Amino acid sequence: MKESGGWRKLSKLALEQRRKGLVQLLPPAAEILRGTLRERAVTGGKPGCRCVQGQRHGPVWYLTVTLGRGRTSGGIVAADQVERVRGWSDNYYRRQEHPEKISAINRELLWRERRRKKK
Ligand SMILES: [Zn+2]
Repeated sequence: MKESGGWRKLSKLALEQRRKGLVQLLPPAAEILRGTLRERAVTGGKPGCRCVQGQRHGPVWYLTVTLGRGRTSGGIVAADQVERVRGWSDNYYRRQEHPEKISAINRELLWRERRRKKK
């Protein structure tokens, strides 16, 4: 369901409740992480290691972050960190997505308020 188009059908009270819900579900600001988590095979860099000959290690969990202008940063994530990283990554997107939805609700409430005053 595309939510942005559906605001208009909701009552003011329903919109305010939706907004409250979005605020309550906003994850803590400290628990966010931007990046893409993937399994991948890696090379270690030890001279003479089998990975130098193409037999890479892994697969291990690897976090890649784009930093803009084609620059990326990344590193290996330990197995016991994967769940936390996934949660923080979800949080990161929710902290972007929810303000977008709250903004859409507030726009709709503004337009309604103005239309009411014009009458
Ligand atoms: Zn190696």
